[in-house]
Amino acid sequence: MELRAFQYRDRALYCEDVALADIAERAGTPCYVYSSATILEHYRAYDETFGATPHTICYAVKANGNLALLRLLAQAGAGFDIVSGGELFRVLKAGGDPARIVFSGVGKTAAEINDALTAGIFNFNCESEPELALIDALAHRRGIQARVALRVNPDVEADTHHYISTGRLAHKFGVDIGEAEAIYDRARKLENLLIEGVSCHIGSQILDPAPVMEAVDRVLALIDRLRAKGFDIRHADLGGGLGVAYKPEESTPSIADFVTKLKAKAEGRGLRVVLEPGRSIVAAAGALLTKALYRKKTGEKEFVIVDAAMNDLIRPALYDAYHEILPLRLSGSPQIRADIVGPVCETGDFLARDREMAEVMPGDALAVCTAGAYGFVQATTYNARRLSVEVLVEGDKWRVVRQRQTYEDLIRGEE
Ligand SMILES: *Cc1c(COP(=O)(O)O)cnc(C)c1O
Repeated sequence: MELRAFQYRDRALYCEDVALADIAERAGTPCYVYSSATILEHYRAYDETFGATPHTICYAVKANGNLALLRLLAQAGAGFDIVSGGELFRVLKAGGDPARIVFSGVGKTAAEINDALTAGIFNFNCESEPELALIDALAHRRGIQARVALRVNPDVEADTHHYISTGRLAHKFGVDIGEAEAIYDRARKLENLLIEGVSCHIGSQILDPAPVMEAVDRVLALIDRLRAKGFDIRHADLGGGLGVAYKPEESTPSIADFVTKLKAKAEGRGLRVVLEPGRSIVAAAGALLTKALYRKKTGEKEFVIVDAAMNDLIRPALYDAYHEILPLRLSGSPQIRADIVGPVCETGDFLARDREMAEVMPGDALAVCTAGAYGFVQATTYNARRLSVEVLVEGDKWRVVRQRQTYEDLIRGEE
C-alpha cells in the first residue's frame, strides 16, 4: 500500500512525522512542503519494477527542479530529463550523473546543445531535422559524436487536458512517425551522430494507460523496421506522463502496474527502456501551505481569501485543475461552500471554486494538496509577490531548501 505523504494524527495534519502547523508557524506561508520518503518511494517503484530489465529512470526536472529534490534523486541513482540549459545547470549542481541525462524539447539553442555536449550527456531527444543537423555540426566542431534519438509523434490521443496532450500530429512535438524512417535514413549521412534511440512522450496527467501502450507498440514497430535497415537502435525512451489522483475518489494505475505493462512489451528485445516521469514522482509528495486572511460574502457567494495566489500555484487558473484543500487542524466545525482565492488582482486567481469544506477562520492554515509537481516551478513574481519558501521533510526533521525571496531579490538586476 502506498504511503500517503500527508496524514492526520490526532486531528493535526502531518507530513511524515512533522506537524505541518510547526512548519507553517516557523517558515511562514505560503510555503511548499515536500516529503522525501514519498519522492524516493515513487522513484524506487519505477526502478524496482523494472528490476533486471535494462532501464534508466530520468526524472523530468521541469516538474520540480529544487536542488535538494534533485540531489535526493541523484543519490538514489536517478537519471534526469532536461528541457533547457538551466535545467542542465541545476542537475549538474545537484550532483546528477551526466551519463544519465536526456535532453528533450523542441527549441534547443546552440548554446544549450554545446553545454550538454561539454557535460557529456547520455542522449539528445531530437524533435526536428534542423536540430539533428545543428547537433551534428556542433559535435563535429568538437571532434566527437553525439548520441541522439528522434522523438516521434505516434499520433495517439492521450485523454488529458488539451494543453498537456502532445502526441497528435497537430501538436508541435516530435516528428510524424510516418516520416520518421525517411528522416533516420537521411540522418545516416550526419557522421557526428550516433543514432541509437527512438523516443516519444504523448502527454501528461494520463490516467488511462491504453494510449501509452498503443504508442509503445508503434514505437517498437518502428524500431524493428529501423533495425532491419541496419540502424543500431539500443534504447527506447517512452516518455513520462503517468497521472496522479488529484481528487480523493480518482483512481490511477499504480507506478508498478504501469511499469509492469511497459516492461512486458519491451522485454527480450535487447533494448534499454528510458522513462521520463515527473508528476508521478513528485506531485503527491508536495503541498502548498497557506493561511486564511479574510472571509467575505458577496451576494450569494462566500469567499475565503488566503495568502497564496495564482502566482504561487497557477494550476487551478491555467488548467482548471482541482487540488484538495485540507485544514492543518481538524476542528469539527460546520461545512461551508466557498471559493478559496488569493490576493492577486485577477478573477482567475483562485485555488478552488465552490468548494465544500470545514469552516475556515482568518488565521487558520490550510494545505493545498498534490502540489509537488508543476507548482513552485510555475510560480512567478506577478503583483511583485515574492517566490515562496520550500521545505523538505525527512522523517521527523525538516529544513528550508529554498529561502523565501526578499524584496531586494525582487529587484535584483534592475536599475
Ligand atoms: C513534461 C515532460 C515529461 C514529464 O511528464 P510528467 O507528466 O510530469 O511525467 C517527460 N518527457 C517530456 C518530453 C516532457 O515534455
